[in-house]
Amino acid sequence: MADCAPIEAAMIAGHFGFAAAVKARAPAVPLWGLMFACQWLDVVFVPLLAAGVERLVPVGDAKPGAYGAVVIYADYTHSLVGAVALSVLFGLVAVLRYGGRSGAILAGVALSHWFLDLPMHRADMPILPGAVGGLPRLGFGLWRYPALSAALELAIVLTGAAMYWRAARRTAEADASGAGAVSSDLRHPAAVRNIATRARSRTLGIASSLVPRRSRYSAKTQKGQLQHTS
Ligand SMILES: [Zn+2]
Repeated sequence: MADCAPIEAAMIAGHFGFAAAVKARAPAVPLWGLMFACQWLDVVFVPLLAAGVERLVPVGDAKPGAYGAVVIYADYTHSLVGAVALSVLFGLVAVLRYGGRSGAILAGVALSHWFLDLPMHRADMPILPGAVGGLPRLGFGLWRYPALSAALELAIVLTGAAMYWRAARRTAEADASGAGAVSSDLRHPAAVRNIATRARSRTLGIASSLVPRRSRYSAKTQKGQLQHTS
């Protein structure tokens, strides 16, 4: 397992770069969810690798763990149909927590993993789970050219970082001009201010309940208000 870690890191940066780009365009979707979604197929891959269901085979006499020097028989998690099924599953769970739009975006990001792996992998990604039917395996094999694939990955990371940075700056500018916080993830001071506002209104609610009341009726009303604010 430890030997496999650097191989698995082969395309992690590119996936995260893509997630950052999506965050810039869809600020309401939680960042941690996007980061998790973009690696979801590999997250499921790890226990299947440990169980021997999916395999890594180093290419030729390449040093184990060398960048991209591996054939990955992830016949369930990285089959096209398997990736769609896992992405739909991820999206359905996300819908329950974050609503339809965010769930759909997170499912799309989960599936993007397969399409970002496609140019890199050495024709080892089957179409059907378990590579049944003997259909051709897919992958353009850019990992055969480590400098080229690393450059492509770096380009995805830089694009994602630039989009994220521009979105964060727009949020900060909107915030400064009084338009309010657009996304708490993009700008921490806004998140801190939101929490402070919530804490202040809650404190005011509790404080006002401590003010002595003349009649039992107003004390009852106040109790009701306190329940509303908590
Ligand atoms: Zn992968």
